[in-house]
Amino acid sequence: MTTRIAVLSLLVLGGVALLIVRPDAAQRPRPPGAEFKGDAFRLNKIQDGIYHAVGTGALSVGCNAAVIVNADDVLVVDSHSTPAAAWALAEQIKTVTDKPIRYVINTHFHWDHAHGNQVYGPDVEIIGHEFTRRMLAAGESTRGRSYDMFVTSGIPAQIAQLTKQIDGMPDGPAKDKVREQLSIQQQYREASAAVKVQPPTVTLTDSMTLYRGGREIRLLFLGRGHTGGDVVVYLPKERVVASGDLLTAGPSYLGDAFVPDWSATLDKLRALDFDWVLPGHGEAFQGKARIDHFKSYLADFWQQAKKLHDSGVSAEEAARQIDMRKHIADYPEVPALKDVGVLNHGVYRAYDLLEGRIQ
Ligand SMILES: [Zn+2]
Repeated sequence: MTTRIAVLSLLVLGGVALLIVRPDAAQRPRPPGAEFKGDAFRLNKIQDGIYHAVGTGALSVGCNAAVIVNADDVLVVDSHSTPAAAWALAEQIKTVTDKPIRYVINTHFHWDHAHGNQVYGPDVEIIGHEFTRRMLAAGESTRGRSYDMFVTSGIPAQIAQLTKQIDGMPDGPAKDKVREQLSIQQQYREASAAVKVQPPTVTLTDSMTLYRGGREIRLLFLGRGHTGGDVVVYLPKERVVASGDLLTAGPSYLGDAFVPDWSATLDKLRALDFDWVLPGHGEAFQGKARIDHFKSYLADFWQQAKKLHDSGVSAEEAARQIDMRKHIADYPEVPALKDVGVLNHGVYRAYDLLEGRIQ
């Protein structure tokens, strides 16, 4: 897509024509690793001016975003895993509105929700919880076993695996498809290398409300859960909540979680009046049944982890023994649930909490 100047209007004042240029940072330069075919996102319209942006797979983007178009500006919930992905969304938003992006919310500190912050210029406020700012400012989003598994070691492992797969394949459409996946991973590696972590410019500890035209946009910290600083974005009139990873379509990642707190936090989420949930991962959904599914998943996980821990079983062995198969009915789309065991990062985290390494 080419850069362009968004022209707000042509005014004639006293015979003098004034070209008013919208002061949006519309000329964002294309960051490294942002070459892709077609659209990087599906912009699923939930209501007038409210979209759920879900990656198409043409570019590795990380999380979903929510896009809220207000009377004069746009608010974007989450900025993805790289500047390339954030740039791609900002460009695509121009297909539905010419209003400038003025607010970006980081629902939490994870790289796949906050590593695109840098593409937004100084006229965009990045808003997040105080904890999120602290973690991003301290470099915690690029450290630790979660980032290592998904990015530092994860991307080279994907590239190696796809390269090996291609070597053994005959020429044809199947091989071309794997080649394309490899190229997406190579771009992701390039895009990740360009990340310069930028923490939020505005923070909250409990709540904050933005009044933009007719919209009331509440940013709420309901308690610890997926991380220590999850913020949900709630539009009471429209009955929509963008939930980040506090509540996702499938079971959310546990590697940086505060599992014992999470259930009470979900009860507070349930107390809000909403119809639509726009999650950080997976498709948008309606209703509150998934809160019950996830609470049941968390309670079961914690009970099993604690029992194994208390009987002296190592975290590695506990990860093999914990059996989450009974939740497959609630999460049929999660292939890992067909096997015994859970992602060991969730168990390591549980052990950190049980042994007091994390308060
Ligand atoms: Zn997350």
